[in-house]
Amino acid sequence: MNSLTTYERKRHFDQTPEPRPRRLRKGGKSGRRFVVQKHRARQLHYDFRLEVDGVLKSWAVPKGLSPNPAVKRLAMSVEDHPLDYADFEGVIPEGEYGGGTVMVWDEGTYELESGEDVKSAIRKGELKVRLKGKKLKGSWALVRIRDRNWLFIKHRDRYVSEDEPTEISPTSVLTQRTLAEIASEEGGNVKKAATGDPRGFRSKAARRQRSTR
Ligand code: MN
Repeated sequence: MNSLTTYERKRHFDQTPEPRPRRLRKGGKSGRRFVVQKHRARQLHYDFRLEVDGVLKSWAVPKGLSPNPAVKRLAMSVEDHPLDYADFEGVIPEGEYGGGTVMVWDEGTYELESGEDVKSAIRKGELKVRLKGKKLKGSWALVRIRDRNWLFIKHRDRYVSEDEPTEISPTSVLTQRTLAEIASEEGGNVKKAATGDPRGFRSKAARRQRSTR
């Protein structure tokens, strides 16, 4: 069974603008991209994705990654996504799986600390991953606690901080838009999307929305 089968079964591609499952042909160069998508579905969460052998291994992180080693963040492993998904920013129609607004919140490249094979590290349930993103930088451990539940824990390095990156940089790395702005421009639910934006950003987007009517 193709690892994108679950992704395909959950979605109606005549309804959602999300990319159709397309697995890159084997023998292609395996890249080391990572992306974090901010997603206001039923709950606001951050989808963390790592490129591994032509697909995106994915975790839903309710509060996003913390650069503070004292703060552990829960991550739930979810179905593999196609590589094309890394560039997806827009609106999934209400009623469809994951209905809501999606933002490309961070992107970059990653390395495993150990130089180990990513697949076997995932199988073992312990990855030490170094991120070179626009927002997230440095090393985290991603450790499975049970079933689909994992924890992200920051390693001590020069990127340790008590800042909350989701609050100080809430907008898209691709388009600099807030969730409300994405919803407004892509025909989504602006009010719902705005609940995922910090307060100051929220009113600005709402003002813009009013003035374009
Ligand atoms: Mn999601």
